[in-house]
Amino acid sequence: MIRLAIQKSGRLSEDSLNLIRECGISFINSSLKLKTEATNFPLEILFLRDDDIPGYVADGVADIGIVGENVLVEEGKQQLSIQKLGFSKCRLSIAVPKAAEYRNIQDLQDKNLATSYPNLLQAYLDEQGVKAHIHTISGSVEIAPSIGLADAICDIVSSGSTLISNGLREVESVFRSEAVLISNQELSAEKTRILNQLVFRIQSVRKAQK
Ligand code: ATP
Ligand code: ZN
Repeated sequence: MIRLAIQKSGRLSEDSLNLIRECGISFINSSLKLKTEATNFPLEILFLRDDDIPGYVADGVADIGIVGENVLVEEGKQQLSIQKLGFSKCRLSIAVPKAAEYRNIQDLQDKNLATSYPNLLQAYLDEQGVKAHIHTISGSVEIAPSIGLADAICDIVSSGSTLISNGLREVESVFRSEAVLISNQELSAEKTRILNQLVFRIQSVRKAQK
């Protein structure tokens, strides 16, 4: 039996469950339960907050997991990644108020930036040779400029409509992300065998979709 951690409720949840089903794996999904067992494959599914998934997989509480690369790399656990999954595509971008003057990244020197991804943002600013003040906040990042908390933000964007409705303009793309399958690095031979079967099915599903 292998233990898979997926997001309980959020933007990864539905596509994660659909992928498992498309692999021909059946299970009963009750939104109230924190775990469920597949009926025709040696798999147990744990439902967790996405931010907790890399840590649980690293520690072996779960054997494998599905999470966004943005969260994985932010937490410094990119070595756990084994397979890109092609859904939940988004980018981490810097945005400034619509009317703000902005020519290039140097304009952020000494400015205040609000984000939930301080490590990814810091790495990007270092690479660009820009020193700014990063304020880590856990949610509603896009309202930070309008309440005077920051000059700019760095947040997840897919269509860009949330930025526009908050009077913001996207100026830099910091990181591109999609959902990935991650694995603990010390799986038993038995769990490795099950994981290989699962990865084989995932690859077949993805080929059929192309
Ligand atoms: P949790 O309650 O589990 O902590 P959350 O609010 O942190 O959830 P979600 O907003 O559900 O997270 O996003 C989960 C992941 O989905 C993100 O880390 C990112 O990889 C991806 N994602 C976020 N926003 C979008 C989007 N607009 N379009 C596509 N994928 C997205
Ligand atoms: Zn989260």
